[in-house]
Amino acid sequence: MALIKCPECRKSVSDRAAACPECGYPITIAHAKKPDAPGLDDVQTVEQTSKRLKLITLVAMFLMLVGLLITMQGCPSAMEADAGIEGSRVGPVMAFIGLLIYIVNKIRIWWYHK
Ligand SMILES: [Zn+2]
Repeated sequence: MALIKCPECRKSVSDRAAACPECGYPITIAHAKKPDAPGLDDVQTVEQTSKRLKLITLVAMFLMLVGLLITMQGCPSAMEADAGIEGSRVGPVMAFIGLLIYIVNKIRIWWYHK
């Protein structure tokens, strides 16, 4: 049993006390959390990771959508006259890249959640 300082009122309190007798600050919980703090950092990392992965998913879906739209509309002669045969490939390539990013991202999400 050791005496620690109450983080709230700075009085000496037993570290086994559930709460500070002076101000009622919950000592046991505050003290128990300190040694190995698995809490905030991990949660934040996971949250940031999943946010980034969601953003990538959005970009991938956008690429697929635009690629498909270009594929469906992009065959007309106007475009081929402009950009030659290469122009008609933009849509499928975009959709394919989007699909690739999407699949890789899904695998990464699965990996992180293991
Ligand atoms: Zn106190």
